[in-house]
Formats: sequence, C-alpha cells, structure tokens
Amino acid sequence: MGVLLCPAIGRGQAEIPGSPTPATLFAQAEKFHLTDQSRFVGVLNQLHQKERLLSPAQRWHLRYLDASQASLQADVAKDAPILQDVIDHSGDPVLVTRASASLITILAYNRHYEQAFRLANTLTANLPKVTDINARAQALRSIIQMLGLAGEHDQALKYVQQLHPERMPPESRCATYSYKVNAISSAVTLSSADPELLRAIAICLADKQVVFANTLRLDRAILLLDEGHAEQTIALLQKIAPSIRQSQFKPHLTELYYVLAQAYLSLGSYVNAKTWALAVIAASDPQSFNWPLQTAYDVLYKVEKKTGHPIAALSYYQKYVAQDKAAMDDTKTRALAYQMVRQQVLDKKLKLEALDKKNRILELRQVLAGEAQENSRLYILLLSLVIVFIGLWTFRLKQSQVRFRRMARHDGLTGAFNRQHFLHEAGRILHRLHQADAGACLVVLDMDHFKRINDTYGHAAGDEVLRCIVAVCRRELRDSDLFGRLGGEEFGILMPGCSCEQGVDIATRIRKALAAAVVKVGPETTVVVSASLGLAHSTVSGYAFHQLFSDADAALYRAKHGGRNQLVVDTGGGMPVVVNADARDTVSA
Ligand code: GH3
Ligand code: MG
Ligand code: MG
Repeated sequence: MGVLLCPAIGRGQAEIPGSPTPATLFAQAEKFHLTDQSRFVGVLNQLHQKERLLSPAQRWHLRYLDASQASLQADVAKDAPILQDVIDHSGDPVLVTRASASLITILAYNRHYEQAFRLANTLTANLPKVTDINARAQALRSIIQMLGLAGEHDQALKYVQQLHPERMPPESRCATYSYKVNAISSAVTLSSADPELLRAIAICLADKQVVFANTLRLDRAILLLDEGHAEQTIALLQKIAPSIRQSQFKPHLTELYYVLAQAYLSLGSYVNAKTWALAVIAASDPQSFNWPLQTAYDVLYKVEKKTGHPIAALSYYQKYVAQDKAAMDDTKTRALAYQMVRQQVLDKKLKLEALDKKNRILELRQVLAGEAQENSRLYILLLSLVIVFIGLWTFRLKQSQVRFRRMARHDGLTGAFNRQHFLHEAGRILHRLHQADAGACLVVLDMDHFKRINDTYGHAAGDEVLRCIVAVCRRELRDSDLFGRLGGEEFGILMPGCSCEQGVDIATRIRKALAAAVVKVGPETTVVVSASLGLAHSTVSGYAFHQLFSDADAALYRAKHGGRNQLVVDTGGGMPVVVNADARDTVSA
C-alpha cells in the first residue's frame, strides 16, 4: 500500500478577505490543514501577521501548525525540535498529543525509527487520557502507522477498531477512512472491489481530498494487477494520471510509473514496460532506495533478459539486488528499533517494580523496628525475601538481554545468522585468514523460482520451505563454516581454510541435498526445490569481502542464466566453470 502521510503542495499565498479574528483564523487553519495546503499556508501567514495579538496558548498552537504543515517534505532538523518544544513546554494535552503524532510521522519518514517507536510508545500509554476526537484520531493514525512499520499488523488492527471515521468532522473524515483501509490491507489481502476500499475512495473524492483519493486508487490498481487484470490496471492508471500529475505529489508519480511498467511487462509489452521503468528511474534520486525503484530495476532486468541483452540484464539485476538488500536492511532496522524500544520499556518497568518493592520493604522495616524483638524472626524472613527477589529480578533481566542479543544476530524466520551479523563475522574471519595466509571460499546461494512456491502454495508454505532449506544446508556444512541469510531466499556461506576443490565439494553436496529434499507444507502437499550457487575463492578474489561477494554473485547470476540448479565457480579472468546439475564433472560455460 502507498504512502499515507499528509501531503504538502508548496507555500501558496491565498488571501482570506476581511480581517478575521485569531480564533476564526485558527478554525480555518484546522479546516484547511488536510484539505487545502495553499489556503492553509495563506491562513498561517495571516496568523503570523497578528502574532502580537495572540495569547500564549494560541502561540503554541501556531508553532504546532508551523511545524506540522508539511509532514512529507518536513525538514527533520528544523521541524522536529519545534514539535518537541510543543510537547515539552506547551502544557496543553491536546497539542501535546497532536505534536507527538506529527513528530512520529516525520521521524518515521526520515527513518529515525528508534525515536519514532519510543514516542509512539509514550503516545500509546497516554491514549486513554485523550478525549479530543481529532487529537485521538491523529494519535491512533500514527500508532497504527508505527505498528504497521514494525510488522505488527494484528496489533494495528486492534487500534483500527477504535477509529470511527463516520464520527469524524468532514475535514478529517477521508484521512481516517484512508488509514483504516490501509491498516486492514496490510494485515489481510483486500480485493480490488472491497466495499471499504471503494467507499474510502468515494468519500475522499467527494471531500475533494485528491492526494488521499489517489493513494487509494493507486492501491486499487496494484490489487487489480495482483488479481491478474493488467488491462484494467492500465485503464485505471490512465484515468487517474492527469490528477496525479496535477497534484504534484511526487511519490504518486513514481508509483504510477512503476505499476504501469509492471502491468505492461505482464502483458508482454516490453517496449512500454521499459519506457515506464526508465521513467521511474528518471524521476527518482539515484541514491535512494524504495519500492518503485526496486520494481523498476526488476522490470528492466526481466525485459533485457527476455529481449536477449544479457549484459544489460546483469547490470539491472545488480541494481535490483542492491535495492532489495537496502530494503531488507531497512526492514531489519525497523524491527530491531521496535524490539529495542520494547526492551527498554521492559527494563524500565522491572526497575520500577524493584524500586516499589524495596520501598515497601523499607516501610515494613520501620514498622518492625518500632515493635518488640520477637519480630526479628520476621525481619530475617523479610531479608531472605529481598535476596530472593533481587536474584529473580537479575535473572529476568539477564534472560531478556540474552533473548535480545540473539534476536539482534539471528534471522527471526529461519534462525540463521542475519545479514548484518554474517557480514560482520565474515569480515572478521577473512581478516584472520589473510594474516594466516589460509584460503577461503564464499558461496552465494539463491533458491530457484521461489516466487512460484509462494504463488502456488502461499506465503506460509514459502516460509516453511525456507526453514527446511536452512536445515538441509546446515546438515552439509562443517562446524567452522559461517552460514547466514542475506535476504529473501538468498544465503551466504563462508568456508574458512578451504581449497577451491573442497568448497566445490561442499557446495555440490548442498545443491544435491536441496534438489533431493521433499518439503512437506501441508497434510497432503509436498514441494520440491532447487538452488543456484555461485562460488568465489580467495586465491582469485583476494580477502576483501566485497570482492569475494561480487565475484560469487556474478557466478550466481551465470548459474541462473545457465538454467538454474547448478553451481558456477568464478575463475577470475578465465571462463567460469559450471558444475553440472546431475553429473559431478565440470564443463566450461
Ligand atoms: P530465481 O530463480 O530467478 O531466483 O526466481 P525467484 O522466483 O526465486 O526470483 P526472486 O529471487 O526475484 O524472488 C524471490 C522471492 O522470494 C520473492 C519473494 O516473494 C520471496 N521471498 C522473499 N523473502 C521471503 C520470505 O521471508 N518468505 C517467503 N515465503 N517468501 C519470501
Ligand atoms: Mg530466487
Ligand atoms: Mg532472490
């Protein structure tokens, strides 16, 4: 689903006739905040001209509106301190809630996840005290957004139950419907004809909230494409394209282009697919990573492959992989930030509990001290209780720290080392091997046609297959080998102290074991898999991880290109060697 943040469409100078009072201007500002950016900015300018006449509470209100006027184009360095100031010093609970919600959006959009989760946690704790209907809806929207980013969709749905768009004032009705549909669609697959989705689109169009309406219509186009209606997708996109161009909301433009590229690709219309994918790249910052760019590279890779341009295909594939990895890292960072904040909250709670218990013990001690000596036995009992309690507390804390450390290093689905830890350890091991002048092999393994498994048997079955793949690989590896999930269905294996021949032996064993594995994904359903592998050795590539990886990755690409279920060995300048699918004998590529 698309971006659901407040749109910002530049600073207009719309004049409001007459000389309204500050109270009237604030009412207008609230009305235009979500509906009409240029009039909103015009009202803000008028309020600034009357700044001398404003009460202290109104000045805080104006500061809040200034900093939250453009959530998407927000300058985190400039706006975040202003919102923090409103939270810390305005003393107005409604403004504190609204400023917190705006700040969460700005922090999350700029990928300051830990701060955003911490603030969302405070906001959630204060939610029962928030009675103002607008502030409460705003708080709920940002909590739902953060839970979505943490992948906690079921939790998000619980908060969605508390959103009542039908009770909202007209200016925030569409925004609330949009968030509701967005949260539902993150948790369950919606149909393109879902009544909630169609109703949200109709309401946003009726309320003239073009950007929200376009977000929802783009989401609907993606659903149509997922359902296999590429022609209808293209027709819908062509219908909304003028409105998207007019709104000048850039994320929608790249979204429009990438969905068109995908739709044309699925129709086999390669020229059109390429045109739209290139349009995504032209409209994007080349350094950024996001879903439209990743998909554009994927489309270009597939188009070049289908039209017989393997060199161009390889180049786009590498860009696609780089985007995929960045996205995976971002997801990991988000999940880690979420867990980190949960851990800190737990720590704090435990410490408070401990403090509370210690205080109660102190009070009891004072009572006891005033009483007769026979109470000394009770006193001893009490002391033992304190010792037991402290022991238990330390144990709980240690346990959660151990759990947390494991979580930071391991992939949650398969239990294999995660990408960050794998890269860190591989770098350390290679440095040691270099000094000892011992060889090392790096293998990159990618499952073949994994998407088909998801598409045919469902994502849960895909997950089960991934777990099984990890178990099969582990069986074939030595204790000293380093194994990690690099992302998706791609794995890395570093074999220290290994000659190229030994590496080929182990990698071939893994490939054959995977091809022979039969994974049970249901009572009556089994799945057969295969993998392609690329191998690079330190004698050719040296000990720098990035070089070893790049050579192994290029060999993997050749293995895919050569028909999959095979191992290709990088040989530096010479021809790479393909180790065949069925025979152990090697042939030239
Ligand atoms: P190829 O042989 O060219 O590698 O084909 P492929 O289908 O494997 O292609 P690609 O590498 O592009 O797709 C990988 C798919 O793996 C995409 C995604 O749906 C799926 N995938 C990635 N991570 C997960 C996961 O954690 N669970 C499940 N079930 N699927 C995943
Ligand atoms: Mg694959
Ligand atoms: Mg892959």
